[in-house]
Amino acid sequence: MSIFDVRHQGRAHRVIQRALNCGRMPHAYLFAGPEGVGKEMLAMRLAKLLLCGSPMQVPMPEGIFDDPTDSEAGRCGMPTQSRGHGTPLTQGGGHSAPGEALDACGRCQDCILVDAGTHPDLFLVYRQLNKQHPDSTIRKQKALVLGVEIIRYFLIEPAGRRPSRGRAKVFVVREAERLNESAQNALLKTLEEPPPDTFIILLTDALDRMLPTTRSRCQQVLFQWLPGEFVADRVRSLRPDAGAQQVAYAACHAGGSLGAAVRMIDDGLFELKRAWGEQLVKMQKDRGVAPNELAKPFMEDAGSLAKCVAERDPEVSETDASRVGLQTLLAALADFYMDALRRRCGAAVAPVNEDQPAVIDCLAALSERALRGCLRHLADADSSLSRNANTELAIETMFIGLSQGRTAVQAGRRAS
Ligand SMILES: [Zn+2]
Repeated sequence: MSIFDVRHQGRAHRVIQRALNCGRMPHAYLFAGPEGVGKEMLAMRLAKLLLCGSPMQVPMPEGIFDDPTDSEAGRCGMPTQSRGHGTPLTQGGGHSAPGEALDACGRCQDCILVDAGTHPDLFLVYRQLNKQHPDSTIRKQKALVLGVEIIRYFLIEPAGRRPSRGRAKVFVVREAERLNESAQNALLKTLEEPPPDTFIILLTDALDRMLPTTRSRCQQVLFQWLPGEFVADRVRSLRPDAGAQQVAYAACHAGGSLGAAVRMIDDGLFELKRAWGEQLVKMQKDRGVAPNELAKPFMEDAGSLAKCVAERDPEVSETDASRVGLQTLLAALADFYMDALRRRCGAAVAPVNEDQPAVIDCLAALSERALRGCLRHLADADSSLSRNANTELAIETMFIGLSQGRTAVQAGRRAS
Protein backbone atom coordinates (compact mmCIF):
# COMPACT_ATOMS: atom_id res chain seq x y z
CA MET A 1 0.00 0.00 0.00
CA SER A 2 1.78 3.06 -1.26
CA ILE A 3 0.75 6.68 -0.78
CA PHE A 4 0.65 6.84 -4.57
CA ASP A 5 -2.16 4.26 -4.68
CA VAL A 6 -4.30 7.40 -4.50
CA ARG A 7 -4.58 8.20 -8.19
CA HIS A 8 -5.35 11.32 -10.21
CA GLN A 9 -4.74 13.64 -7.28
CA GLY A 10 -1.45 15.11 -8.46
CA ARG A 11 -2.06 18.46 -6.82
CA ALA A 12 -2.63 16.87 -3.39
CA HIS A 13 0.49 14.71 -3.77
CA ARG A 14 2.54 17.76 -4.78
CA VAL A 15 1.48 19.75 -1.73
CA ILE A 16 2.31 16.85 0.58
CA GLN A 17 5.57 15.82 -1.04
CA ARG A 18 6.78 19.42 -1.04
CA ALA A 19 6.17 19.66 2.71
CA LEU A 20 7.91 16.33 3.27
CA ASN A 21 10.78 17.35 1.03
CA CYS A 22 11.35 20.51 3.06
CA GLY A 23 11.16 18.43 6.22
CA ARG A 24 8.38 20.64 7.56
CA MET A 25 4.87 19.31 7.79
CA PRO A 26 1.97 21.58 8.66
CA HIS A 27 0.19 20.43 11.81
CA ALA A 28 -3.24 20.76 10.33
CA TYR A 29 -4.45 19.88 6.88
CA LEU A 30 -7.89 20.36 5.42
CA PHE A 31 -8.50 17.90 2.59
CA ALA A 32 -11.41 19.29 0.59
CA GLY A 33 -13.16 18.17 -2.57
CA PRO A 34 -15.90 15.94 -3.92
CA GLU A 35 -16.85 12.82 -1.98
CA GLY A 36 -15.45 9.52 -3.11
CA VAL A 37 -12.26 10.75 -4.79
CA GLY A 38 -9.63 9.49 -2.32
CA LYS A 39 -9.41 12.09 0.47
CA GLU A 40 -9.65 9.60 3.31
CA MET A 41 -7.42 7.11 1.55
CA LEU A 42 -4.70 9.73 1.13
CA ALA A 43 -5.13 10.91 4.73
CA MET A 44 -4.66 7.36 6.01
CA ARG A 45 -1.61 6.81 3.76
CA LEU A 46 -0.11 10.09 4.94
CA ALA A 47 -0.81 9.08 8.55
CA LYS A 48 1.05 5.84 7.94
CA LEU A 49 4.00 7.75 6.53
CA LEU A 50 4.05 10.13 9.50
CA LEU A 51 4.00 7.21 11.93
CA CYS A 52 6.40 4.97 9.98
CA GLY A 53 9.68 4.12 11.73
CA SER A 54 11.76 4.19 8.54
CA PRO A 55 10.15 6.12 5.67
CA MET A 56 11.80 5.37 2.38
CA GLN A 57 12.57 7.24 -0.78
CA VAL A 58 10.75 5.98 -3.82
CA PRO A 59 10.84 7.10 -7.44
CA MET A 60 8.34 9.90 -8.01
CA PRO A 61 5.53 8.46 -10.13
CA GLU A 62 5.26 10.00 -13.57
CA GLY A 63 3.01 12.98 -14.04
CA ILE A 64 2.96 14.17 -10.44
CA PHE A 65 5.24 17.19 -10.81
CA ASP A 66 4.91 18.03 -14.48
CA ASP A 67 1.62 19.93 -14.37
CA PRO A 68 2.40 23.26 -16.06
CA THR A 69 -0.73 24.86 -14.54
CA ASP A 70 0.68 24.42 -11.06
CA SER A 71 2.32 27.72 -10.15
CA GLU A 72 3.67 26.31 -6.93
CA ALA A 73 5.53 23.43 -8.55
CA GLY A 74 8.91 22.99 -7.00
CA ARG A 75 8.37 25.71 -4.45
CA CYS A 76 9.37 24.84 -0.96
CA GLY A 77 7.68 26.11 2.13
CA MET A 78 4.25 26.75 3.52
CA PRO A 79 1.70 28.77 1.67
CA THR A 80 1.23 32.07 3.44
CA GLN A 81 -2.39 31.47 4.41
CA SER A 82 -1.45 28.59 6.62
CA ARG A 83 -0.88 29.23 10.30
CA GLY A 84 0.64 25.84 10.98
CA HIS A 85 4.09 25.99 12.47
CA GLY A 86 5.59 23.11 10.60
CA THR A 87 7.56 20.34 12.17
CA PRO A 88 10.76 18.80 10.94
CA LEU A 89 10.22 15.15 10.18
CA THR A 90 12.31 13.59 12.89
CA GLN A 91 12.59 10.14 11.40
CA GLY A 92 15.24 10.69 8.80
CA GLY A 93 12.68 11.95 6.32
CA GLY A 94 12.74 15.04 4.21
CA HIS A 95 15.06 16.31 1.55
CA SER A 96 14.31 13.76 -1.14
CA ALA A 97 16.58 13.77 -4.13
CA PRO A 98 15.04 15.21 -7.31
CA GLY A 99 12.63 12.73 -8.87
CA GLU A 100 12.16 10.97 -5.58
CA ALA A 101 9.32 11.00 -3.10
CA LEU A 102 8.78 9.78 0.44
CA ASP A 103 6.57 6.87 1.34
CA ALA A 104 6.02 4.61 4.35
CA CYS A 105 8.23 1.51 4.42
CA GLY A 106 5.28 -0.85 4.82
CA ARG A 107 7.38 -3.28 6.88
CA CYS A 108 8.07 -1.71 10.27
CA GLN A 109 5.91 -2.39 13.33
CA ASP A 110 4.19 1.00 12.96
CA CYS A 111 3.25 0.32 9.35
CA ILE A 112 1.94 -3.12 10.29
CA LEU A 113 -0.19 -1.64 13.08
CA VAL A 114 -1.59 1.07 10.78
CA ASP A 115 -2.49 -1.53 8.14
CA ALA A 116 -4.20 -3.64 10.80
CA GLY A 117 -6.18 -0.61 11.97
CA THR A 118 -4.79 -0.93 15.50
CA HIS A 119 -2.09 1.74 15.70
CA PRO A 120 -2.55 3.44 19.09
CA ASP A 121 -1.42 6.83 17.75
CA LEU A 122 -3.74 6.94 14.76
CA PHE A 123 -7.17 8.32 15.64
CA LEU A 124 -10.09 8.27 13.23
CA VAL A 125 -12.69 10.76 14.45
CA TYR A 126 -16.28 10.56 13.16
CA ARG A 127 -19.73 11.51 14.37
CA GLN A 128 -20.87 7.99 15.27
CA LEU A 129 -18.16 7.86 17.97
CA ASN A 130 -20.78 9.33 20.30
CA LYS A 131 -21.79 5.67 20.88
CA GLN A 132 -18.42 5.17 22.62
CA HIS A 133 -18.57 8.32 24.74
CA PRO A 134 -18.50 7.74 28.53
CA ASP A 135 -21.49 10.06 29.06
CA SER A 136 -24.71 8.11 28.54
CA THR A 137 -26.69 11.18 27.43
CA ILE A 138 -24.19 11.70 24.59
CA ARG A 139 -24.41 7.99 23.72
CA LYS A 140 -28.18 8.23 23.40
CA GLN A 141 -28.10 11.18 20.98
CA LYS A 142 -28.51 10.75 17.25
CA ALA A 143 -25.11 11.27 15.67
CA LEU A 144 -26.11 13.95 13.19
CA VAL A 145 -23.24 16.34 13.94
CA LEU A 146 -19.70 16.16 15.21
CA GLY A 147 -20.40 17.82 18.52
CA VAL A 148 -18.03 19.46 20.95
CA GLU A 149 -18.20 16.48 23.36
CA ILE A 150 -16.90 14.13 20.68
CA ILE A 151 -14.13 16.52 19.69
CA ARG A 152 -13.04 17.08 23.29
CA TYR A 153 -13.04 13.41 24.22
CA PHE A 154 -11.71 11.86 21.02
CA LEU A 155 -9.37 14.58 19.75
CA ILE A 156 -8.44 17.44 22.09
CA GLU A 157 -7.78 15.22 25.15
CA PRO A 158 -5.76 12.48 23.41
CA ALA A 159 -3.86 15.20 21.49
CA GLY A 160 -2.58 16.45 24.85
CA ARG A 161 -1.13 13.05 25.79
CA ARG A 162 2.25 11.71 24.69
CA PRO A 163 2.23 9.38 21.70
CA SER A 164 2.01 5.73 22.84
CA ARG A 165 4.73 4.61 20.46
CA GLY A 166 6.76 7.76 20.84
CA ARG A 167 6.77 9.13 17.31
CA ALA A 168 3.64 11.16 16.55
CA LYS A 169 -0.14 11.24 16.83
CA VAL A 170 -2.34 11.61 13.79
CA PHE A 171 -6.03 12.51 13.89
CA VAL A 172 -8.15 12.06 10.78
CA VAL A 173 -11.55 13.74 11.06
CA ARG A 174 -14.29 12.54 8.69
CA GLU A 175 -17.06 14.88 7.51
CA ALA A 176 -15.46 17.91 9.12
CA GLU A 177 -18.29 20.07 7.74
CA ARG A 178 -20.46 18.40 10.39
CA LEU A 179 -18.36 19.89 13.20
CA ASN A 180 -20.86 22.23 14.77
CA GLU A 181 -19.87 25.75 15.68
CA SER A 182 -18.95 25.01 19.29
CA ALA A 183 -16.88 22.00 18.19
CA GLN A 184 -15.03 24.11 15.63
CA ASN A 185 -14.43 26.81 18.22
CA ALA A 186 -13.17 24.26 20.73
CA LEU A 187 -10.81 22.89 18.09
CA LEU A 188 -9.31 26.27 17.13
CA LYS A 189 -6.66 26.34 19.85
CA THR A 190 -5.52 22.80 19.05
CA LEU A 191 -5.33 23.65 15.35
CA GLU A 192 -3.37 26.82 16.06
CA GLU A 193 -1.01 25.52 18.73
CA PRO A 194 -1.13 21.75 18.60
CA PRO A 195 0.77 19.70 21.15
CA PRO A 196 4.16 18.51 19.83
CA ASP A 197 4.15 15.81 17.13
CA THR A 198 0.41 16.09 16.59
CA PHE A 199 -1.04 16.12 13.10
CA ILE A 200 -4.69 16.75 12.32
CA ILE A 201 -6.22 16.05 8.93
CA LEU A 202 -9.77 17.31 8.45
CA LEU A 203 -11.75 15.83 5.55
CA THR A 204 -14.67 17.60 3.93
CA ASP A 205 -16.94 17.47 0.87
CA ALA A 206 -18.43 20.86 1.75
CA LEU A 207 -15.70 23.40 2.30
CA ASP A 208 -18.24 26.25 2.25
CA ARG A 209 -19.83 24.89 5.41
CA MET A 210 -16.62 25.21 7.43
CA LEU A 211 -15.99 28.31 9.53
CA PRO A 212 -13.40 30.67 8.03
CA THR A 213 -11.54 30.56 11.36
CA THR A 214 -11.12 26.78 11.03
CA ARG A 215 -10.16 26.99 7.37
CA SER A 216 -7.52 29.63 7.96
CA ARG A 217 -5.75 27.49 10.56
CA CYS A 218 -5.28 24.55 8.22
CA GLN A 219 -3.37 24.07 5.03
CA GLN A 220 -6.04 23.41 2.44
CA VAL A 221 -5.48 20.65 -0.07
CA LEU A 222 -8.01 20.59 -2.88
CA PHE A 223 -8.96 17.27 -4.45
CA GLN A 224 -10.25 16.89 -7.98
CA TRP A 225 -12.92 14.86 -9.75
CA LEU A 226 -11.60 11.57 -11.09
CA PRO A 227 -11.52 10.84 -14.84
CA GLY A 228 -14.62 8.87 -15.98
CA GLU A 229 -12.58 6.05 -17.47
CA PHE A 230 -10.72 5.54 -14.19
CA VAL A 231 -14.00 5.52 -12.23
CA ALA A 232 -15.47 2.95 -14.65
CA ASP A 233 -12.36 0.73 -14.30
CA ARG A 234 -12.50 0.85 -10.51
CA VAL A 235 -16.28 0.22 -10.44
CA ARG A 236 -15.78 -2.83 -12.67
CA SER A 237 -13.30 -4.31 -10.23
CA LEU A 238 -15.25 -3.34 -7.10
CA ARG A 239 -18.62 -4.54 -8.45
CA PRO A 240 -17.74 -7.38 -10.86
CA ASP A 241 -21.39 -8.44 -11.18
CA ALA A 242 -22.53 -5.10 -12.58
CA GLY A 243 -23.36 -5.03 -16.30
CA ALA A 244 -21.39 -2.96 -18.80
CA GLN A 245 -24.19 -0.43 -19.38
CA GLN A 246 -24.78 -0.13 -15.65
CA VAL A 247 -21.08 0.63 -15.04
CA ALA A 248 -20.91 3.12 -17.90
CA TYR A 249 -23.99 4.93 -16.59
CA ALA A 250 -22.78 5.02 -12.99
CA ALA A 251 -19.34 6.31 -14.00
CA CYS A 252 -20.83 9.00 -16.22
CA HIS A 253 -23.70 10.10 -13.99
CA ALA A 254 -21.47 10.16 -10.88
CA GLY A 255 -19.35 12.76 -12.66
CA GLY A 256 -15.95 11.74 -11.32
CA SER A 257 -16.78 10.43 -7.85
CA LEU A 258 -15.93 6.77 -7.37
CA GLY A 259 -17.85 6.66 -4.10
CA ALA A 260 -21.02 7.98 -5.74
CA ALA A 261 -20.69 5.59 -8.71
CA VAL A 262 -20.40 2.52 -6.47
CA ARG A 263 -23.38 3.70 -4.44
CA MET A 264 -25.47 4.06 -7.60
CA ILE A 265 -24.77 0.43 -8.51
CA ASP A 266 -25.64 -0.73 -4.99
CA ASP A 267 -28.86 1.30 -4.90
CA GLY A 268 -30.13 0.10 -8.29
CA LEU A 269 -30.33 3.62 -9.70
CA PHE A 270 -29.70 2.31 -13.22
CA GLU A 271 -32.89 0.22 -13.25
CA LEU A 272 -34.94 3.09 -11.81
CA LYS A 273 -33.66 5.64 -14.27
CA ARG A 274 -34.34 3.26 -17.20
CA ALA A 275 -37.97 3.00 -16.16
CA TRP A 276 -38.23 6.77 -15.76
CA GLY A 277 -36.68 7.33 -19.17
CA GLU A 278 -39.53 5.25 -20.64
CA GLN A 279 -42.06 7.26 -18.62
CA LEU A 280 -40.69 10.53 -19.98
CA VAL A 281 -41.19 9.24 -23.53
CA LYS A 282 -44.78 8.20 -22.79
CA MET A 283 -45.46 11.56 -21.20
CA GLN A 284 -43.86 13.44 -24.08
CA LYS A 285 -45.83 11.48 -26.66
CA ASP A 286 -48.98 12.02 -24.64
CA ARG A 287 -49.71 8.31 -24.39
CA GLY A 288 -52.36 8.37 -21.72
CA VAL A 289 -50.05 9.46 -18.93
CA ALA A 290 -51.51 12.18 -16.75
CA PRO A 291 -48.45 14.09 -15.54
CA ASN A 292 -49.79 14.74 -12.05
CA GLU A 293 -50.30 10.99 -11.58
CA LEU A 294 -46.56 10.44 -12.00
CA ALA A 295 -45.81 12.12 -8.68
CA LYS A 296 -46.88 9.13 -6.62
CA PRO A 297 -44.77 6.43 -8.35
CA PHE A 298 -41.88 8.90 -8.51
CA MET A 299 -42.03 9.37 -4.76
CA GLU A 300 -42.22 5.62 -4.22
CA ASP A 301 -39.08 5.06 -6.27
CA ALA A 302 -37.36 7.93 -4.49
CA GLY A 303 -38.46 6.23 -1.26
CA SER A 304 -36.60 3.06 -2.20
CA LEU A 305 -33.45 5.14 -2.74
CA ALA A 306 -34.06 6.83 0.61
CA LYS A 307 -34.21 3.41 2.24
CA CYS A 308 -30.73 2.64 0.89
CA VAL A 309 -29.49 5.96 2.29
CA ALA A 310 -30.93 5.10 5.71
CA GLU A 311 -29.44 1.60 5.63
CA ARG A 312 -26.00 3.02 4.92
CA ASP A 313 -26.28 5.63 7.65
CA PRO A 314 -28.75 4.64 10.39
CA GLU A 315 -28.14 7.99 12.08
CA VAL A 316 -29.54 10.02 9.21
CA SER A 317 -32.96 11.60 9.85
CA GLU A 318 -35.95 10.34 7.88
CA THR A 319 -36.40 13.79 6.32
CA ASP A 320 -32.80 13.91 5.15
CA ALA A 321 -32.88 10.38 3.73
CA SER A 322 -36.08 11.10 1.87
CA ARG A 323 -34.68 14.36 0.49
CA VAL A 324 -31.52 12.62 -0.73
CA GLY A 325 -33.66 9.91 -2.41
CA LEU A 326 -35.75 12.49 -4.22
CA GLN A 327 -32.77 14.59 -5.24
CA THR A 328 -30.98 11.53 -6.60
CA LEU A 329 -33.92 10.62 -8.80
CA LEU A 330 -34.40 14.24 -9.89
CA ALA A 331 -30.76 14.38 -10.93
CA ALA A 332 -31.27 11.20 -12.98
CA LEU A 333 -34.23 12.82 -14.80
CA ALA A 334 -32.27 16.02 -15.32
CA ASP A 335 -29.54 14.06 -17.10
CA PHE A 336 -32.05 12.95 -19.76
CA TYR A 337 -32.90 16.58 -20.49
CA MET A 338 -29.21 17.56 -20.39
CA ASP A 339 -28.42 14.81 -22.88
CA ALA A 340 -31.19 16.09 -25.18
CA LEU A 341 -30.02 19.69 -24.80
CA ARG A 342 -26.43 18.75 -25.61
CA ARG A 343 -27.68 16.92 -28.69
CA ARG A 344 -29.64 19.98 -29.82
CA CYS A 345 -26.68 22.28 -29.25
CA GLY A 346 -24.43 19.90 -31.14
CA ALA A 347 -22.10 19.38 -28.16
CA ALA A 348 -19.57 16.64 -28.83
CA VAL A 349 -20.04 14.95 -25.48
CA ALA A 350 -21.12 11.34 -25.00
CA PRO A 351 -24.60 11.26 -23.43
CA VAL A 352 -24.94 10.06 -19.85
CA ASN A 353 -27.89 7.88 -20.93
CA GLU A 354 -26.09 6.31 -23.84
CA ASP A 355 -28.05 3.08 -23.19
CA GLN A 356 -31.37 4.80 -23.98
CA PRO A 357 -30.90 6.62 -27.30
CA ALA A 358 -34.67 6.52 -28.03
CA VAL A 359 -35.38 8.61 -24.94
CA ILE A 360 -32.78 11.19 -25.91
CA ASP A 361 -34.15 11.27 -29.49
CA CYS A 362 -37.65 11.85 -28.19
CA LEU A 363 -36.66 14.68 -25.83
CA ALA A 364 -34.34 16.25 -28.39
CA ALA A 365 -37.44 16.94 -30.48
CA LEU A 366 -38.20 19.69 -27.96
CA SER A 367 -36.87 23.16 -28.65
CA GLU A 368 -33.79 24.36 -26.84
CA ARG A 369 -35.97 26.79 -24.94
CA ALA A 370 -38.40 24.07 -23.90
CA LEU A 371 -35.54 21.87 -22.71
CA ARG A 372 -34.10 24.69 -20.65
CA GLY A 373 -37.59 25.20 -19.24
CA CYS A 374 -37.76 21.53 -18.24
CA LEU A 375 -34.40 21.76 -16.52
CA ARG A 376 -35.68 24.79 -14.65
CA HIS A 377 -38.74 22.83 -13.47
CA LEU A 378 -36.44 20.09 -12.18
CA ALA A 379 -34.22 22.62 -10.43
CA ASP A 380 -37.27 24.29 -8.87
CA ALA A 381 -38.47 20.95 -7.52
CA ASP A 382 -35.02 20.28 -6.13
CA SER A 383 -34.80 23.60 -4.35
CA SER A 384 -38.31 23.30 -2.91
CA LEU A 385 -37.17 20.03 -1.31
CA SER A 386 -34.40 21.89 0.46
CA ARG A 387 -37.01 24.34 1.76
CA ASN A 388 -39.08 21.44 3.13
CA ALA A 389 -42.06 22.48 1.02
CA ASN A 390 -44.97 20.09 0.37
CA THR A 391 -43.04 17.43 -1.51
CA GLU A 392 -45.87 15.76 -3.36
CA LEU A 393 -47.18 19.07 -4.60
CA ALA A 394 -43.71 20.14 -5.71
CA ILE A 395 -43.21 16.91 -7.68
CA GLU A 396 -46.69 17.14 -9.23
CA THR A 397 -46.03 20.71 -10.31
CA MET A 398 -42.73 19.60 -11.79
CA PHE A 399 -44.31 16.84 -13.90
CA ILE A 400 -47.00 19.22 -15.15
CA GLY A 401 -44.21 21.64 -16.08
CA LEU A 402 -42.23 18.91 -17.86
CA SER A 403 -45.27 17.77 -19.81
CA GLN A 404 -45.79 21.31 -21.06
CA GLY A 405 -42.53 21.12 -22.99
CA ARG A 406 -44.46 19.62 -25.88
CA THR A 407 -47.07 22.34 -25.79
CA ALA A 408 -44.32 24.93 -25.77
CA VAL A 409 -42.89 23.43 -28.96
CA GLN A 410 -46.24 23.56 -30.64
CA ALA A 411 -46.89 27.11 -29.46
CA GLY A 412 -43.40 28.10 -30.64
CA ARG A 413 -44.09 26.63 -34.07
CA ARG A 414 -47.39 28.49 -34.32
CA ALA A 415 -45.75 31.77 -33.31
CA SER A 416 -42.94 31.47 -35.85
ZN1 LIG B 1 7.19 1.73 8.20
